[in-house]
Amino acid sequence: MQVIKSRALCGRIAIEKPLILSKKSFDVSTYSKGSADEEWQKVCNARQALVDMLNLELASANPDKASSKDAREVISAYVQVALDVALEEAIKEEIYEKNLPAPMAIENGGHKISESIRMIPDSYIRTRYKDVENIIDQLEECLLGNTMFKINEDCIVIANDLNPAMLIKNLGKIKGLILKVGADNSHTAILANSYDIPTLIGFDEDISAFLVDEDVIIDAIKGEAYISPDVTTLTNYRAMLNAFIEEDEALKEYIGKSAITKGGTRIKIYANIGSSMEAYETKRVGADGIGLFRSEFLFLGREEAPGEEEQFNAYKEALEVMYPKEVVIRTCDVGADKMSSYINVAREANPALGLRAVRIGFHNEKILRTQLRALFRASNYGNLSINFPMIANEWEIDRIYEIIKEVKDELDREAIPYKYVRIGIMIETPAAALISQRLAKKVDFFSIGTNDLIQYTLACDRQNDEVRKHLDVHHEAVLSLIKMTIDNAHKNGITVGVCGGLAQDLDLLDFFIENKVDELSVGQAQILRLKHSICLK
Ligand code: PEP
Ligand code: MG
Repeated sequence: MQVIKSRALCGRIAIEKPLILSKKSFDVSTYSKGSADEEWQKVCNARQALVDMLNLELASANPDKASSKDAREVISAYVQVALDVALEEAIKEEIYEKNLPAPMAIENGGHKISESIRMIPDSYIRTRYKDVENIIDQLEECLLGNTMFKINEDCIVIANDLNPAMLIKNLGKIKGLILKVGADNSHTAILANSYDIPTLIGFDEDISAFLVDEDVIIDAIKGEAYISPDVTTLTNYRAMLNAFIEEDEALKEYIGKSAITKGGTRIKIYANIGSSMEAYETKRVGADGIGLFRSEFLFLGREEAPGEEEQFNAYKEALEVMYPKEVVIRTCDVGADKMSSYINVAREANPALGLRAVRIGFHNEKILRTQLRALFRASNYGNLSINFPMIANEWEIDRIYEIIKEVKDELDREAIPYKYVRIGIMIETPAAALISQRLAKKVDFFSIGTNDLIQYTLACDRQNDEVRKHLDVHHEAVLSLIKMTIDNAHKNGITVGVCGGLAQDLDLLDFFIENKVDELSVGQAQILRLKHSICLK
């Protein structure tokens, strides 16, 4: 039995056979090969995901540190290799002329290029062939992680990283995750938490060493995984897993029930989602609505922003599924840890304090306007509220209303109908909380984004493991900003919800009940648990 220790998410147990998504797991017999165009598109998607990932690494490397300077040079060189035209041509040739599947085309085409570099007499240039081989491996891993193949058997996925869309596609089959990279607040991590998928992240081993067909246990309570566990360990963990399953069964009685305390206080329990597909599960578990649709999921890991039609269809689907319940869709919150190259933001020294969220919408208005058109068009199909992230100034709200008016005028001129839409803002900067008395007069609702509110209040990067111990999520300063926001919302007659990670923190439930928060918006898996806990109060 081999034991690995790592950071854990979700506090549950999983026992399954592993599915190892690394280069070595490419299996021609199970790979679903498409047309040449489709295979080429898979390569393009993988390359984009890889470049985005490298750009993120670049953005987080401290420019003032000498050690970071070397790292930045290496990463910049990788980006150049990934985008190299000769490499592109070589891979294309394998796909279009030899009809090979994308992973083999990457390997063969990449190998040709690295070999040609290895033959160059100049010894310095010759060493560059290693860069190409490294990029080939990473590209292939991105591709296998990105390829939207359907998993047919229950499994624990072991991978470098996992594309969130792949996770969404295989919800129900992926029982656990062991990932090398990833932060607690990455999209994949948020989804894993949301769906109660026991996850270990940041483990420091070679993935190919885990080619086993024995059981794997993830204990996401302790932060350990057992590879090929002995009989006693396996028996004990099976008993623990069964206890969790029984608890889930018992919670089903809360489907469709409202969360009302014994004293008669009702709190609406909403769901956080990242794709319209998740609305079906939200409806099934009887959430009171959707409190946060992170629309940026539609924008990530691709070469161009989603067009108006694609967005319209996604929003319409979520609204129709949930009707007549409310769906709060947040405008695209990219930037900081969630960047795509087409958004065109120059490298920033402090991305979390830079162009992100609503600031990107002002910086690149076309993105915001297209999204607003899609949202207002979709408003006809349900009960829509729009939420704007990362507000810090009053004038930002004024500017949003100007843009909304222009978008609506445009739709009027085109005789495209739309319905009344509630407009709200995320309270996730200390500035917004401190001036919430004034901001409340301008909007219909507040939604407190505690993940960012904590990071900005405590000046503590939510992505940085090194400062984890300074990130006291119950810090008095954070709680008083939350209280101030709730009080100011109510004094001005507007509703206020919490949609960040603290919404599911049972230690804060009394605090939220006492302060009369209107709504808590949490991951799907927390909805029934939270209703149950509130009903016991
Ligand atoms: C938050 O900041 O709490 C929030 C809900 O937004 P995100 O986690 O997507 O930044
Ligand atoms: Mg946020």
